[in-house]
Amino acid sequence: MSDTVFGKIIRREIPAQIVYEDDRALAFKDIAPQAPVHILVVPKEPISGISQAKPEHEALLGHLLLTAQRVAAEAGLSKGYRLVINEGEDGGQTVFHLHIHVLGGRGMGWPPG
Ligand code: AMP
Repeated sequence: MSDTVFGKIIRREIPAQIVYEDDRALAFKDIAPQAPVHILVVPKEPISGISQAKPEHEALLGHLLLTAQRVAAEAGLSKGYRLVINEGEDGGQTVFHLHIHVLGGRGMGWPPG
């Protein structure tokens, strides 16, 4: 299991505001929200980032996107939302356990920072 903070959340070693869980995925509120709704969707399998996903993860990656869709709907984001995966240094990744940011509840700017 991953030794990142997200691994600790998955193993219930540290608390988080969990909004969804199944056998492959966990979704919880970001500790430093950047929008009124900011949820992280993570695989339970500790893939360090999207660059490290393998062909055998194809179904899992689809499941994570559908989980993001689900938690966005359950959060009431009927006007839309943004999904973000940060990868590596230039991508601004700080936790090296793959995660999808679900951001919503306000209009999003483009281009991103
Ligand atoms: P990233 O910069 O894409 O790697 O995103 C990591 C995210 O994890 C940031 O938005 C952090 O606020 C969030 N984060 C870090 N520690 C925790 C934690 N203990 N619980 C919830 N979110 C966290």
